[in-house]
Amino acid sequence: MDKTNIYKGLGIDEDVFRYGEGICDELSGRFARIDEVSEINQLKVIGAMQECRVSEACLGTTTGYGYNDIGRDTLEEVYAKVFHTEAALVRPLIACGTHALAIALFGNLRPGDELISIAGKPYDTLEEVIGIRPSRGSLAEYGITYSQVDLLPNGNFDLDGIKKAISDKTKMVTIQRSKGYEVRKTLSVAQIGEAIACVKSVRPDIICMVDNCYGEFTETIEPSDVGADLIVGSLIKNPGGGLAPVGGYIAGKAEYVENASYRMTCPGLGSEVGPSLGVNPAFYQGFFMAPIVTASALKGAIFAANVYERLGFSALPDGKEDRHDIIESITLGSPEAVVAFCKGIQKAAPVDSFVTPEPWDMPGYDDPVVMAAGAFVQGSSIELSADGPIRPPYSVYFQGGLTWPSAKLGILMSLQEMKNAGLVEIPKIQS
Ligand SMILES: *Cc1c(COP(=O)(O)O)cnc(C)c1O
Repeated sequence: MDKTNIYKGLGIDEDVFRYGEGICDELSGRFARIDEVSEINQLKVIGAMQECRVSEACLGTTTGYGYNDIGRDTLEEVYAKVFHTEAALVRPLIACGTHALAIALFGNLRPGDELISIAGKPYDTLEEVIGIRPSRGSLAEYGITYSQVDLLPNGNFDLDGIKKAISDKTKMVTIQRSKGYEVRKTLSVAQIGEAIACVKSVRPDIICMVDNCYGEFTETIEPSDVGADLIVGSLIKNPGGGLAPVGGYIAGKAEYVENASYRMTCPGLGSEVGPSLGVNPAFYQGFFMAPIVTASALKGAIFAANVYERLGFSALPDGKEDRHDIIESITLGSPEAVVAFCKGIQKAAPVDSFVTPEPWDMPGYDDPVVMAAGAFVQGSSIELSADGPIRPPYSVYFQGGLTWPSAKLGILMSLQEMKNAGLVEIPKIQS
């Protein structure tokens, strides 16, 4: 069957389709390099599952206290092996990425200690965990102080500033790999390694934690390969492979992971309790799929950057640069364009494709926000999803795509909606 017609059946005009195909052709070299990375990561995951002797019994479940859950314990060994760490916690009891980060912080910091963020302002939700914004139960309320070293204007670590900021009280340093929703570059694993070496040169006992959200499997090494003592992330992002219905992970030095476990449950019990409640098959299979799913999301992000850049919009990261996370932001310049873009993403989804996203006044935001997500797992951002605050410069942020063809369809549909609203002209491509 002719592809043009299948796309037409889904609502994509021929000119939009052809324009997209032209860009796909140009990206084949890039995509081959992404496939190369995912192949290496896939082999790492399979190798670890074999070495840890994952068996049918591991796909069973426990309830109640969850003592001796072989599936849970073996999966934690698999994560530790893939990330080259001594230990890991991988649990459905960890509700989300923020929770995982909070457990790692509270578990390892004590009153009087200081935490430094050396990659500038951390992710929004951590502001309340740390107490940057006063918040009940924050680290600040427990007498844990915080300071911050911003990245340099060129986006690199301020190594001199970091050395100066470290004091006798500094117990822990946190580094956010992904830019999240900041306008900065995402940090590469190599850059993170240099910053950690700098911290360790001042005092080797400072715990270096990396917020690894959105970064897993985008490179062939992880921050734990370049000296991070703890790496932390969410299972409804990259490592859950779209199949994990909930969860977070913490991997790193055994002592620090154990400290975290006493916060995850409670002192004395640590990682011994916590049933897997039926999620083991999804966690294993999701981790197995994760390298390929991450590659699909990366291809979608690169495709989108190129599709929109050539129409005159600015994309961050741009169409050419290397990627270290799966987030893309595109500045569309008008509220109508942000809404049209999100409508297209929604229309291309496997779930809830028939609903129309509208901007609304979300709690906690100053401006209306429009969101598109038609996901199998609620809030999952390894699935194709987009959101945009309705304020200048009218940028949309989007990420995910469980498969490359579904990511491609989403981006073409966003362009189709922009075209339908009269907001773009599709360049003519000879057929
Ligand atoms: C998503 C994210 C978090 C928080 O994860 P949640 O699962 O939403 O709580 C923290 N840091 C970064 C960089 C993230 O992208």
